Amino acid sequence: MKLLACTCLALLVSASASGQTGETFKVGTAAATRGQTAYGAIEVPAGSDAALSIPVAVVHGARPGPVLAIVSGAHGTEYASIIAVERLIQQLDAKAIAGTVILVPLVNVPSFEQKVPHVNPIDGKSMNRFYPGKADGTQTERASFLITREVVDRCDHLIDLHGGDLDESLRPYSYWNKTGNEKLDAASREIALAFGLDTIIISADRPKDPAASRYLENTATTRGKASLTAEAGHAGTVEPEDVDALVNGSISVMRHLKMLEGAARPVQSPVWIERISAITSEATGIFTPLVKRGTYVAQGMKVGYLTDYLGRPLSEIRAPDAGVVLYIRAVPSMTKGETIANIGIVSR
Ligand SMILES: [Zn+2]
Repeated sequence: MKLLACTCLALLVSASASGQTGETFKVGTAAATRGQTAYGAIEVPAGSDAALSIPVAVVHGARPGPVLAIVSGAHGTEYASIIAVERLIQQLDAKAIAGTVILVPLVNVPSFEQKVPHVNPIDGKSMNRFYPGKADGTQTERASFLITREVVDRCDHLIDLHGGDLDESLRPYSYWNKTGNEKLDAASREIALAFGLDTIIISADRPKDPAASRYLENTATTRGKASLTAEAGHAGTVEPEDVDALVNGSISVMRHLKMLEGAARPVQSPVWIERISAITSEATGIFTPLVKRGTYVAQGMKVGYLTDYLGRPLSEIRAPDAGVVLYIRAVPSMTKGETIANIGIVSR
């Protein structure tokens, strides 16, 4: 009896992972029949803190095909990425799609509503650091647990969209998550190229254990699913070129996966970033940048300076390595130990 139960469960799991679940595809309360878009929520029950309702749309294509998850808003003030997924929900026509798209535009609703960057204000945790989550943890952990079960386990591929947060002036880039599994890495690389952003970070240091995957995209790759993270947007803005980059990138990946008609538009000669050199502030004070996001800097170049609250010089901030400014602090507030800028070291 026990053996039978196990077999049935295995069958169910493999059926849902391949997306061939038949005529209806349900995520949370959103149940779409073939050729339709359904709207609903992933309901995170109350536990040690409040319940959370995470909006989800399911675009269940008229024809069978892969299941792609597109998630944004783990950081609820990275607005360009959230608006991009809102636009995808409007644009995608289930009748024209082969396969299924699970769209989660705003994971961190409390961050969005309270305009709190980086973390979920309910428990003070980043909503992209606690995967695969815990059913009995705080709100972020319970939400991550349900997103793993309802979104990651159900999809074949995953795109996690981010951007510079309220205090980050960021130039667009994506990550290629390199796991050491050659076949998976090749598929993830193709997706990163298909997404089309011209700067790609080679991310080879993510945890390998699916039970301690930390990041959403890494939760997918540690479960054998080709995936990517992409970032565009900066400092609370919703610039059309940032939103377009994320929308068009997602559509190009869908074309690459043969979910949509038309040719993918992969980036031809991306800049590969082999390592990130973070500049950390050694003092608390007022930060003034001297370079813009996307600037190529030489080693030792002055990228900004710090003064105290009476304008007296505290320190000069210099680039520890040559590379591209992936993001730099967008606001004057600077606290000791915080990141001033990330310099991407270009792969030779
Ligand atoms: Zn983010």
